[in-house]
Amino acid sequence: MRFLSGLLLLPWLAGAFAQDGAHQTHEYQSDVARLRKIVINSLYSHRDVFLRELLSNANDALEKLRITALTDKSLVSPDEPLNITIQLLPASGSGAGRVVIADTGIGMTPDELTQNLGTLAKSGTSDFLVQAESAGAQQAGNLIGQFGLGFYSSFLVADHVEVASVPAGGNGEQWVFASGAEDQRFEVFPDPRGRTMRHGTEITLLLREDAKEFLNPGKVKELVDKHSGFSTSFPIYLQTFK
Ligand code: ADP
Ligand code: MG
Repeated sequence: MRFLSGLLLLPWLAGAFAQDGAHQTHEYQSDVARLRKIVINSLYSHRDVFLRELLSNANDALEKLRITALTDKSLVSPDEPLNITIQLLPASGSGAGRVVIADTGIGMTPDELTQNLGTLAKSGTSDFLVQAESAGAQQAGNLIGQFGLGFYSSFLVADHVEVASVPAGGNGEQWVFASGAEDQRFEVFPDPRGRTMRHGTEITLLLREDAKEFLNPGKVKELVDKHSGFSTSFPIYLQTFK
């Protein structure tokens, strides 16, 4: 996790977010905070939906690129085939290990990272919030199954999430969206690793101590088979590391 610099502590003076050059800190909107609270408190037994949600986002991003590239062929290249990679990285030092889900899809600009992952634009979410807040934990779990939680389901299994992205056709920097599960704010900054992708999105989940089972390749494969019932048209690779 990155530390806030002194300048980033200015949001109280500057309003919703502060910026020191490129590094931005944004406040979550109140409905995002409500949703994340439900996610974090929701049922243990429903948390494997995170994989379905992240794979369906990756699939959407690949499909968007495929369609866009029909009219602009320069957006794709045979060097960067359209696919999804899931990497399982066991803990090194502290933490419970990482699951990384990467796609070579349409990607996001820094503004899109902020808008798409920091706000709830999704129709149906407010209905979900009202129902889930009045329901007990058991029922909230069932509602999650029905509505889907999208990207926020990452926090069912992760203490901290980082999303690195490069938009297709862009030749600028690779940017990162980062947030802890209980943070009131999220950060958006240029990737300190530089550009690691031609285009696409890489989601790194720092697993919760109680979510280590998702480092088990057999378990992950089973979930991929179960959830790619939305018939992903792109290959999914599973990479494991010792
Ligand atoms: P939904 O998929 O229903 O729109 P999500 O919470 O799953 O809701 O995702 C929110 C938005 O974030 C998506 O609509 C998309 O614009 C963006 N997004 C999420 N994951 C990716 C990805 N892998 N690549 C590109 N954009 C993504
Ligand atoms: Mg989605």
